[in-house]
Amino acid sequence: MSLIVQKYGGTSVGSPERIENVAGKAAAFRAQGHDVVVVVSAMSGETNRLVALAGAIDDQPDSRELDVLLSTGEQVTIALLAMALKKRGVAARSFTGGQVHIRTDSAHNKARIVDIDKQRVSAALAAGEVVVVAGFQGVDDSGNITTLGRGGSDTTAVALAAALSADECQIYTDVDGVYTTDPRVVPEARRLDRITFEEMLEMASLGSKVLQIRAVEFAGKYDVPLRVLSSFEEGEGTLITYEEEGMEQALISGIAFNRDEAKLTVLGVPDHPGVAHRILGPVGAANIEVDMIIQNVGADGTTDFTFTVHRNDFVRAREVLDSVAAELGARQVDGDDKIVKVSLVGVGMRSHAGIASRMFEILADEGINIRMISTSEIKVSVVIDEKYLELGVRALHTGFELAQEAGTNI
Ligand code: ADP
Ligand code: ASP
Ligand code: MG
Repeated sequence: MSLIVQKYGGTSVGSPERIENVAGKAAAFRAQGHDVVVVVSAMSGETNRLVALAGAIDDQPDSRELDVLLSTGEQVTIALLAMALKKRGVAARSFTGGQVHIRTDSAHNKARIVDIDKQRVSAALAAGEVVVVAGFQGVDDSGNITTLGRGGSDTTAVALAAALSADECQIYTDVDGVYTTDPRVVPEARRLDRITFEEMLEMASLGSKVLQIRAVEFAGKYDVPLRVLSSFEEGEGTLITYEEEGMEQALISGIAFNRDEAKLTVLGVPDHPGVAHRILGPVGAANIEVDMIIQNVGADGTTDFTFTVHRNDFVRAREVLDSVAAELGARQVDGDDKIVKVSLVGVGMRSHAGIASRMFEILADEGINIRMISTSEIKVSVVIDEKYLELGVRALHTGFELAQEAGTNI
C-alpha cells in the first residue's frame, strides 16, 4: 500500500460540483487501497476577494490579522470536501494547518514551514481516514496563524509529502502538466513529460506560477516525487525529476515570464566607490526586494544605475530613491512600471553558446526593444515593454522550435 499526497488548486475546487469531482478522485485512490492525504486551496477567487476586503479596511492591513482572514478561504474548502467524502461513505476528516502542526516561522503573509509533526496525520491515516488538510497555512511558535505566500498550498502538499515520506505528491491543477511556456499565452506550447528540479526551480523563480518556488525547493531537497496533473482530464502530467546522467538535455526547456516587474533608474549618480550600496541599502532597509541590477560604465564622473522591483513596491521604491538621489546629488530618478521580464530556461544551455544572441535576434526581428539583460548558466532574461509580452514570448517559442519534440535547434 502506498501513501499519496494530492493537492487541488483553486479552480479545481471552484464550485460545489468541482469539489464533488475532487471527492470522487480522492475516493477512487482510497478504494484502490492507497493512504490518501488531500491538500486543498481556497475556492478560486476567494483569496483575492479576502485580500480586497482587507484593503477596503486598511491599504496596509496588519499582517497578523491578514493571515487570520486569508486562512479562512482554505478552511471553507476542507470542510466541504470532507463532507463530500463522508457523503460517499468514505471515512474522512478535515484539519486546518495548525491542527496538523504545520509549524512555521513568524513572517506573516510569507511564512516558511519549519517542521511538521506528523503524529496527527499518521493517526488519522492509521484509522483509515482520508486526511483533508487546508493548504497555504500554518502556525508559529506563539500559536499565531500564518500563511505561506500566494500559491502556498503547493508547498503545504510537498512538505506533508516529505514529512510522511509519501510515495508521490500529485499537484492537480487546471492544466495537464508543465508546458514549454504558459499555454494561455502560447496555445501551441507543449506539455513536458519530465522537467528537472533545477529547471522547474528556475521557471518558478522567473515567474511560472504553475508551482510555488518553495514547493519545488522542498521537493528537490527532500527527494519528493512530484507530479503536476490535470484535475479535469486523465493523463500522466509532468514529473519533476533529477537530471539523469546521459540524458539528452533539451537546450531550452521553457520560457518563463513575469508581469509583476517594475524598473527604476537613478541618472547621473557620482561614480565613486560605495554608490551602489548607498542606493540599494535604503531600498533593502525598506524591505523591498531587488531583482535585476545594471550599472552603466561611468562617463564624465557620473553613471546611471538601474534595477527592478516587484510592481507592488514601485511607488515605495521611488519614494526611497527620490530622497537617496537628492542626498547623492544625482541628476534624476526615472521609473517604469509597464515592463515585464521574459526568460529562456534550460540546463542544456550550459554547454552551448549563442542562445542569448539568437534570443536578441528573434526579438529584434519583431521590433522589440530590450531594456535590460541578465544571464546565468541555465537562463537568459530580458526586460521588455509590457505591451510586447505576448508577441515576444510567441516569437521566441516559435524561433526556438519549442512546440516540436526535438525542438531547441538554433
Ligand atoms: P492552482 O490554482 O491549481 O494552483 P495556478 O493558477 O496557481 O493553479 O497554476 C496553474 C496555471 O499556471 C495555469 O493555468 C497556467 O496558466 C499557468 N502557467 C504558467 N506557466 C506555466 C507553464 N510553463 N506550464 C503550465 N502552466 C503554466
Ligand atoms: N489560496 C492561496 C492563493 O490563492 C494559496 C493557493 O491557492 O495555493 O494564493
Ligand atoms: Mg497555484
